Amino acid sequence: MTHDPNCLFCKIVAGQIPSKKVYEDEDILAFHDIHPWAPVHVLIIPKRHIASMADVTEAEVALLGKMTALGPKLMKELGVTNGFRHVINTGPDGGQEVLHLHLHVMGGPRPWLKG
Ligand code: AMP
Ligand code: ZN
Repeated sequence: MTHDPNCLFCKIVAGQIPSKKVYEDEDILAFHDIHPWAPVHVLIIPKRHIASMADVTEAEVALLGKMTALGPKLMKELGVTNGFRHVINTGPDGGQEVLHLHLHVMGGPRPWLKG
């Protein structure tokens, strides 16, 4: 599925729900998390609807690499200088609430709300 009309993050990709964008290209969108766990907290998502890491195949390896490598660039641009954290939650026991694959990238001075 390319776009799921009931998916929150597909709606963000489509511009139907506003977001504070920090990066966009043909494959990827990055925006600030609405309830940040850390002083800087962005979500990096594929524009195409992929529900979770459990749905990832060989075909998504390059996309995941691109998403992962974008994290450090965004942290630098957003002024994070002392380290950051990449997190992907998968499924109910993994704590995934939004069923559209997203990479959390968090940084900034501690203490943080979570983690
Ligand atoms: P997860 O528990 O890994 O599925 O994380 C979902 C994340 O999406 C949470 O950190 C939420 O704060 C964030 N979130 C939910 N709705 C929005 C939204 N409209 N804009 C930005 N972030 C959101
Ligand atoms: Zn989606």
